[in-house]
Amino acid sequence: MQDLESLKQKFLRYLAQTSDEPMGVVVERAEGCWIIAKDGRRYLDFISGIAVTNIGHAHPEVVQAIKRQVERYLHTMVYGEFVQDVQVALAEKLVSIVEAAFKRATNGQWRGELQYYPTNSGTEANEGALKLARKFTGRKKFVAFQNSFHGDTLGSLSVTGREIYRKPFEPLLPDVVFLPFGDVDALRQIDETVAAVICEPIQGEAGIIVPPDEFLPALRKRCDEVGALLILDEVQTGFGRTGKWFAFEHWGIVPDILTLGKALGGGMPLSGFLARREIMRVFAENPPLCHVTTFGGHPVCCAAASAALQVMERENLPERAAVMGTKLRDALEQLANRYPQIVEVRGKGLMLGLEFVTKEATQTFVKGCLERGLIVGGTLHTEKVVRIAPPLVITDDEIGWAIEVMEGVLK
Ligand code: PMP
Repeated sequence: MQDLESLKQKFLRYLAQTSDEPMGVVVERAEGCWIIAKDGRRYLDFISGIAVTNIGHAHPEVVQAIKRQVERYLHTMVYGEFVQDVQVALAEKLVSIVEAAFKRATNGQWRGELQYYPTNSGTEANEGALKLARKFTGRKKFVAFQNSFHGDTLGSLSVTGREIYRKPFEPLLPDVVFLPFGDVDALRQIDETVAAVICEPIQGEAGIIVPPDEFLPALRKRCDEVGALLILDEVQTGFGRTGKWFAFEHWGIVPDILTLGKALGGGMPLSGFLARREIMRVFAENPPLCHVTTFGGHPVCCAAASAALQVMERENLPERAAVMGTKLRDALEQLANRYPQIVEVRGKGLMLGLEFVTKEATQTFVKGCLERGLIVGGTLHTEKVVRIAPPLVITDDEIGWAIEVMEGVLK
């Protein structure tokens, strides 16, 4: 126990802190939907490391793929120069999965050849997408949405729709306009000067906000009318989380640039963006090497990602998320009916949010769950929403147990 206390003290002493209230679970190991702490306590993970561990923690096939690659080679050269078989294999697999989703979303109409540019984090994927849009269109302006979240580097922060997070870091990118999310009439403000519109299909950090069904099709149409590129940020919604491979499939539209991250690497840091070959081409000329990365597409992460995609595909995890999501949502709605602290249950698939009456009720709930071994959390832009996003491999029994814990806390 003394060791545990000293470890916690060192965590506070040596690691830069991001808040005064870290959750503080002291991790020993993790497997499936569970995190096992050093004191032996087991926690059911209902946030998936924030939408990362869609196939569960430390999936044996991912671990095996990592081990195999580690024995062969680690970093050999910056991205884009050497031919690395594991990187090529991942790109081929990912492109085929995304192209199939583009075709499903457009009833087979979509034509083209996508390419994948690998990066290391969600925010870097968005940085690349913004630069690509500027260079391809020759335009400067970006449109983004109020309460969006796209990452914490300066470019992504510039299109993040929350003033309190932007203000301390200004000046940021000029020429960014924020429109209300879900408001079709506001889309008229997108004009011929806009390089790109960046949008989460379902806003995560805003508190799991699903737009009205007409919104994304209207946005796609407006972008086409004025020649602006549509960047969909599926860093959080991608890879089955919402009950489809990608959230855009719910609305029958496709982006010009798709950004991905989080669950892609099966627990390893890997992200990236996809666009048609003729768009991506502008990064290779005038001047060449105008967007490069040392570690993007690291071979160990690519090996892990290929294994993760194989698991998602074989186990049909997007569909499973839809099925389990419906069950979980029904159970949460029953709680909401019985306990007036809960105002609303919303979301799609296994990307769900519980809105509470007050900030205090939210905090009490999250803390109470943690004390009883269930990990849930908040979202960045609101203090009244609890995020519910278990791994897509969650079982009926695990959901049943989680609901019991929640009910115990609400009582
Ligand atoms: N975009 C979205 C929609 C996200 O939810 C996040 C992370 N919460 C990011 C981008 C940034 O990802 P990262 O932390 O990997 O930079």
